[in-house]
Amino acid sequence: MSDLSSLTISELQTGFRSGAFTPADAVRAIESRIESIDPQIQAYLARDFDSALAAAEKADVSLPLGGVPIGIKDVINVWGEQCTCGSKILAGYKAPYDATVISKLRAAGAIPFGRLNMDEFAMGSSTENSAYQITRNPWDTTRIPGGSSGGSAAAVAAREAFATLGSDTGGSIRQPAALCGVVGLKPSYGRVSRYGLVAFASSLDQIGPFARSTRDCAAILNAIAGKDPRDSTSLELPEEDFTTRLGRDLKGVKLGIPKEYFVDGMDSRIRKKVEAAIRQCESLGAELVEVSLPHTEYAIGVYYIIATAEASANLARFDGVRYGHRAKNPADLLDHYRRTREEGFGSEVKRRIILGTYVLSSGYYDAYYLRAQKVRTLIRRDFTNAFEKVDALICPTSPDLAFKIGERVNDPLRMYLADIFTIAANLAGICGISVPCGLVEEDGKQLPVGLQFLGKPLDETRLLGIADAYEQAASQEILSRIP
Ligand code: GLN
Repeated sequence: MSDLSSLTISELQTGFRSGAFTPADAVRAIESRIESIDPQIQAYLARDFDSALAAAEKADVSLPLGGVPIGIKDVINVWGEQCTCGSKILAGYKAPYDATVISKLRAAGAIPFGRLNMDEFAMGSSTENSAYQITRNPWDTTRIPGGSSGGSAAAVAAREAFATLGSDTGGSIRQPAALCGVVGLKPSYGRVSRYGLVAFASSLDQIGPFARSTRDCAAILNAIAGKDPRDSTSLELPEEDFTTRLGRDLKGVKLGIPKEYFVDGMDSRIRKKVEAAIRQCESLGAELVEVSLPHTEYAIGVYYIIATAEASANLARFDGVRYGHRAKNPADLLDHYRRTREEGFGSEVKRRIILGTYVLSSGYYDAYYLRAQKVRTLIRRDFTNAFEKVDALICPTSPDLAFKIGERVNDPLRMYLADIFTIAANLAGICGISVPCGLVEEDGKQLPVGLQFLGKPLDETRLLGIADAYEQAASQEILSRIP
């Protein structure tokens, strides 16, 4: 039998249902790929082939995701499995319950499998902030895979997973998808339950899929979306099939080009690829309209105030009493807290807790946090205004290609600035997807470029239709070109 590891979910299902191969064959294909390549890529923090095989033997392939193994970012709770969030403070912690997305995946027949590396508590853009290992970009292993869901993106790119789940607070699904040449979807805020997702910034976090195609992302969204009584921010909406607009062209679709997203200083090779993709959308029937998102320049400042403020509150629970790491022989309670957190958290997490505590402290709250919330409203309004004229926006996902490991670790500000095209979507609560739009050669290696589509809040069906139309026309099998 040929290697199954490069198949899409829809191809896997065709094979399962025709009897050409079984879910156990699919798990074994992933296993052999992980064994041969993960020592170089380091995408997985943990994996358990035995239980995945046991689940595969019992899988019901008539279910929507029947028998499909799906890798999980180490920030989502899976009953009985470790959930470290890439942090030492949660070393050895095992989840006592399934996140809602995991129960929903299981109900759809999927097999949640493995724990994927990430920046500690999802803070970062390169996966270099993991306390455990540095995941490498499969296209060039001297480079970062993006972050914070770097393991989830690299695993799909390196054919160590058919699809994975990640989380996106400021771009952590879309940016690594772009840098690894796979598809990554951030659903609208409220579309997917956050119950069982370890919180980073609760007003921004969303769980979403990585896959080889937009179609596969739609299939996973079908499984994981929906109101959850355990997450009061998940929305009660009529049931929706997110695949209904796949397989169409772009006639009658208005695509907005946000002029602030095509700035000087962005890599000209990325600009060229994205502009070519925009022309391709036009040739598929899309009408192009220039739009303006005038408050874009404030998005990074606003995000790094709101996200750190929320993180400082959310991470207060890691006190060495209830979870994970506990300092030895503390002199008193304060010493216990202080040393547990000093030993357990890495430097980026500490930086964010300090920043977040500062912007919330009395005397600074009005000047920073409150003002940031007001500007957040203006950013959201920019999108509302743009979406009065267009159906979706088209733009780059990241201003940079995958950079070299170590290149930016000592320059957090530079790392933050590269989030410019992704974070506003989280502040506004809208949906977004990154699809591959070409390769650029650097140092003798091919590096992927991501194209981003941003959609109205809760307009995933249309967004997925648009991304699929582009993807089908571009027909880039860039994944299969990884050496
Ligand atoms: N790079 C951003 C940050 O460091 C986004 C992270 C995310 O989406 N989890 O906060």
